Amino acid sequence: MLHDKLFIPGPVEVSEKTLAAFARPVIGHRSEAFKNLYRGIHPRLQELFGTKQPVFLSTSSAWGVMEAAIRNVVRKKVLCCMCGAFSDKWLDVARRCGKEAEPLQVEWGRHIDHHTIDARLASGQFDTVTLIHNETSTGVMNPLAEICCVLAKYPEIALIVDTVSSFSAVPISMDALGIDMMLTGSQKALALPPGFSLFSVSELAFERASENENRGYYFDFLEFKRQQSEFMTPSTPSIGHVYALQSKLDEIFTEGVENRFARHRRTNALVHEWVQTRGFEFFAEENFRSITLTCVKNSRGIDVPKLARDLREKHHLVIDGGYGKIKGQTFRLSNMGDETEESVSHLLACLDDCL
Ligand SMILES: *Cc1c(COP(=O)(O)O)cnc(C)c1O
Repeated sequence: MLHDKLFIPGPVEVSEKTLAAFARPVIGHRSEAFKNLYRGIHPRLQELFGTKQPVFLSTSSAWGVMEAAIRNVVRKKVLCCMCGAFSDKWLDVARRCGKEAEPLQVEWGRHIDHHTIDARLASGQFDTVTLIHNETSTGVMNPLAEICCVLAKYPEIALIVDTVSSFSAVPISMDALGIDMMLTGSQKALALPPGFSLFSVSELAFERASENENRGYYFDFLEFKRQQSEFMTPSTPSIGHVYALQSKLDEIFTEGVENRFARHRRTNALVHEWVQTRGFEFFAEENFRSITLTCVKNSRGIDVPKLARDLREKHHLVIDGGYGKIKGQTFRLSNMGDETEESVSHLLACLDDCL
């Protein structure tokens, strides 16, 4: 059976090599072998997170730890920065967790402006902010450094940042930026199978967790911390994911992180050039476009479902026909994970063939 290769922005294509690591025989999660596995990958995880804090392994998709962030960190009221499907949803999740939450909503395709955050925080109502660095639904990459500068004025306000579709593709240094909880998922920028997440937590966020009585058990930051000190997880993890992660870290550090960042910039530039020369437009505003995926505005009025269908049937490649309310008005092309100039050029040639 021929596999249809994924160019959707998550889950992304998983290599044979990663799948082979994922399928290694199971070991006990309290064994020395597991502790050595976790101990062995931990320094490289800290390097990618840009932190001296422990990095935790969660057997859940990203939403598990996004909900955990709310339950552990928010004291009373959270400001949710909203610019697309994933960031919009976080407001709803916070309210379902019983927290007071207010939207800082911008139109889809636009970025979160740091001045607006500053104005909202000056009201003194909020103890936490949620931000999605790379809004995968719209292809907007928010200006993290500027936003973190604003947060630095409010040391008592915790900043939670989702880097699901940007982690390891662009430099993000948690400690230097003053991020209090940073998380990523397995199936996007890291190109691992879905169902697993990574996160790290600042001292402020651990303090908040210790004050929060309703943080539950499965995602309790303090349980993660206690177990990580012996290189274990609170409950049985997906051990295959940890092997796959080890294999991926070997690849990342063999390629070199700077080279990995540069590869993402180059493959993204190829997609951008294609969009411009084929008479399409970008959905995301200029200067705030993601470098891991492109949300193409269907300015030519093509039949997007037909394009996606033709591409799959003729070339065995899968693209995304737009997320939620912008389905059909946009389509998304991913260059995250293992993609190269060769593989992205092939995708673009096949798109030309189908248009
Ligand atoms: C995909 C995605 C999520 C949700 O991830 P799940 O693994 O489905 O829980 C959250 N945030 C961003 C930015 C995403 O792209």
